[in-house]
Amino acid sequence: MTSDDLLARHRAVLPSWMPLYYAEPLELVAGSGRRVTDAAGRTYLDFFGGVLTTMVGHDIPEIREAVEQQLRTGLVHTSTLYLIRQQVELAEKIARLSGIPDARVFFTNSGTEANEAALLVATNHRRSHQILAVRNSYHGRSYATMGVTGNRGWSASALNPLQVAWLHSGERLRGLLARLDAADRVDAAVEDLREVLATQTAGDVACLIAEPVQGVGGFVHGPDGLFAAWKKVLDEHGILLISDEVQTGWGRTGEHFWGYQAHGVTPDLLTFAKGIGNGFALAGVVGRAEVLESVPAISFSTFGGNPVSTAAGNAVLDYLLDHDLQGNAARVGAILGDGLRAAVAGLDEVAEVRGKGLMLAVEFVHPGTVEPDAALTTRVFEACRAGGLLVGKGGLYGNVIRMGPPLTLTEDEAREGLAIMADAIRASIEA
Ligand code: PLP
Repeated sequence: MTSDDLLARHRAVLPSWMPLYYAEPLELVAGSGRRVTDAAGRTYLDFFGGVLTTMVGHDIPEIREAVEQQLRTGLVHTSTLYLIRQQVELAEKIARLSGIPDARVFFTNSGTEANEAALLVATNHRRSHQILAVRNSYHGRSYATMGVTGNRGWSASALNPLQVAWLHSGERLRGLLARLDAADRVDAAVEDLREVLATQTAGDVACLIAEPVQGVGGFVHGPDGLFAAWKKVLDEHGILLISDEVQTGWGRTGEHFWGYQAHGVTPDLLTFAKGIGNGFALAGVVGRAEVLESVPAISFSTFGGNPVSTAAGNAVLDYLLDHDLQGNAARVGAILGDGLRAAVAGLDEVAEVRGKGLMLAVEFVHPGTVEPDAALTTRVFEACRAGGLLVGKGGLYGNVIRMGPPLTLTEDEAREGLAIMADAIRASIEA
């Protein structure tokens, strides 16, 4: 069966709202390190890692061995109603790394479920359904998590089951705070929070949920320190802060292990997913015992924290720490980021190269404006593929190229990808 046949069958049986990348959708059949191979035998450098998920790389022996060892026991799944050694060990490690005092960890299968659990905990703890969320955010595909997603392409706001009030993200390119310097943007975002609390809520708000760097939104972030400034106000009202670390956790930003650390404050709840399983379904929520214990009914997850996922999670975390992948993200990310900035210098079609560590984005606009140029972005995206480089595309207006390669990316691979990207941008602008 060819990939074309597969595409026809895909379209006949899977929902049309499930997007597929590329004009000619890609079928990947193998992976190794930072490279993947398609059904026609062509190899690509993978700068997207299955949406920042293949954090350590494809087919890494230590992780394969840990999973195979678990499979060899014959126990792929035991109910989480039994004791699971790997689950306890992983929870201990994550609790210690989380920075949250007296932490408890609840494992789920996806970032959506992790955020759903965090919202459930926060609303029950505070006995309130009012939630603060951030414009241009993305938190998942369930009813509640879509309700706190501030990106129309991904949300169901007309059917929102929650009472949500929206905050400015503190970003600098567009909107009310555009062109303010970082300190003024923090002050303005805090003023915005106070005003939203006073005018758009009944006062008894449960929580604020926010991404330290907005992933799906196009790797947009407010100034460092914003969460700390927000939290001062939140603490005056007893409102909990949830840091959605689904994309920013595990050292991806290079400078810190968690995204929230750039903001100089510890959240009340932290959610994680994506990279920790390196492809196996593993996610969860961490919070102080006093907060996380607020779920009123018995609750457990059939698959969350299962032996295979948590075996993978332990191996991934050990690999990450043993090989200082956060340090590698900082080092190689700087090469990639500086190289991208040099490659686009003087191009009026690029509004900015931004991001941290190995979470980097290029935003395309009509020259001399901040008007998004989604068509140019699509040309760059397709040209990267044609050159042998897989990247992500996104942002609120579909005009951002996103790069989130495995954190094991080497300097040579960074330079190789950079050259493909620079050619793709030049050719797409000229086209
Ligand atoms: N939160 C953030 C910041 C995300 O980027 C995503 C997915 O992209 C999610 C939550 C949802 O995670 P999942 O797709 O594992 O449900």
